[in-house]
Amino acid sequence: MVQLKTDTSIEAMRKAGRVVAQLLTAAREAAAVGVSLRELDEVAHEVLREASAGSPFLNYRPHFAPTPFPGVICASVNDAIVHGIPNDLRLRDGDLVSIDAGATLDGWCGDSAISFIVGRPRPADTRLVETAFEALEAGIAAAVVGNRIGDIAHAIGTVCRTAGYGIPDGFGGHGIGRSMHEDPGVPNEGRPGRGMPLRHGMVLAIEPMLIGSGRDEYHPDRDGWTLRTNDGSRAAHAEHTVAITNDGPRILTAL
Ligand code: MG
Ligand code: MG
Repeated sequence: MVQLKTDTSIEAMRKAGRVVAQLLTAAREAAAVGVSLRELDEVAHEVLREASAGSPFLNYRPHFAPTPFPGVICASVNDAIVHGIPNDLRLRDGDLVSIDAGATLDGWCGDSAISFIVGRPRPADTRLVETAFEALEAGIAAAVVGNRIGDIAHAIGTVCRTAGYGIPDGFGGHGIGRSMHEDPGVPNEGRPGRGMPLRHGMVLAIEPMLIGSGRDEYHPDRDGWTLRTNDGSRAAHAEHTVAITNDGPRILTAL
């Protein structure tokens, strides 16, 4: 069931969202050749502590997970698409890193992700990351009253496919509020004009995931969490929490 948020609740979610933006900014600034994913997680955790915010990621255990999630960020490097565990892996020159994180403040959640390259980028990776953000922008632009969920999905999918990238199906965006994952699901590919109508007060996490080779296949790593591309090609992920309002989409996880 979709839970519409009042304007007061959206303001509260904006506060949680701003903490997520601060966390991602700090993690990105700390990311450098030789830095471990665990160290990035520690930087992120400190931002949450300073804001007196909780993490909806830490100890999260969905049905598919073999263990509670051990960090406050997902750190997915190169062929890892999403759900990477922040472990002792140290970043190398040219790595493509996606960091996904959330915050809980006064009982409200925010959820956002960025992708970037550490050190000297490969041109193909730069294009992949830029396209992930373009797809996110297109999805947000379609998140308007009068449209439907399928319009967001179609906008994202069109940007990804036109650029020649793959889209892992079965994973995508979601409603968000007092829980990190609420109805409705927001697929990254779909038919325009289909699905649930968008209404003032809906809050959605919109999150394109792109596979560089153009293929869609992926598999879970042995750790049970990380999703990796089957062909070893690199992937990118971008996400914002967005409120649908009568005045247009409002990004809640901006700085
Ligand atoms: Mg996320
Ligand atoms: Mg999400």
